[in-house]
Amino acid sequence: MSRLRFRPRRDIVCREAAELVTDYLEDALSQAQRRRFEAHLAHCPDCPEYLAQMRAIVALAGSITPDDLTPGMREGFVSVYRRWRDDEARDPL
Ligand SMILES: [Zn+2]
Repeated sequence: MSRLRFRPRRDIVCREAAELVTDYLEDALSQAQRRRFEAHLAHCPDCPEYLAQMRAIVALAGSITPDDLTPGMREGFVSVYRRWRDDEARDPL
């Protein structure tokens, strides 16, 4: 019995999703990008929360700068970032 985990290449990882978040909020993604982004959100434990935080910042500030992040949000981003690193270590592009 194989314990290999298969990850379809067309599936995007958190790092890619995070790069698409601002374009997603600005409605600047192509249809294909939007579909892949939303497919990732549907099964990712972290990115929906990341997106919600980004959406809240954009709603309040109109744009995002590092000064807009509270310490708690910075911690959240660090944990998301660590997950990206882990994803990359497991499945180098
Ligand atoms: Zn994700």
